[in-house]
Amino acid sequence: MPSEPKPNSRAVEQEVREKIHLEILKRTGAYLTNDHFLLPSGHHAPEYIEKSLVTTEPTFTEGLGAVIAKHFAPWPIDVVLATGLGALILADSVARAHPSHPTLIYATKGMVGPRRRVSLPREFQRFITKGTKVLIIVSLVTRDFPTYLPQDCPLCRQGVPLNRQFTRGREE
Ligand SMILES: [Zn+2]
Repeated sequence: MPSEPKPNSRAVEQEVREKIHLEILKRTGAYLTNDHFLLPSGHHAPEYIEKSLVTTEPTFTEGLGAVIAKHFAPWPIDVVLATGLGALILADSVARAHPSHPTLIYATKGMVGPRRRVSLPREFQRFITKGTKVLIIVSLVTRDFPTYLPQDCPLCRQGVPLNRQFTRGREE
């Protein structure tokens, strides 16, 4: 009996994904821990991911793109939409490997105060109309870790020096 692909099926299990994430994060030096970071949002955290380093290994990105494209191969898609620069590099690999030969476009991200804002450049808006099948690539990695407001930060309370290397030149 042929099994129908389910739109919510997860070919890549959460746990496996987590392992891949951690491995690539460590290998590229993108994952930093055991410190006291000031994040661009103004929060403090004991760990940090420098996302721009995550796509520094093209063969890894390409392989991951192929895995994602294979996962979504049963569903025709018209457009692959990336929501940021790191995601765009991965989205390119996904778009090239998907059997539908989808168009590749990207949204831009900006900080409005402490909030992130994603918007679709005007020239790309015609690619998405009613009924367009869009595969959205959000990010190569996401990892939830605790962040604290400066006044609630346990590391501040312990007197650990604040590492500002990722916010230098951006904001205080
Ligand atoms: Zn702190």
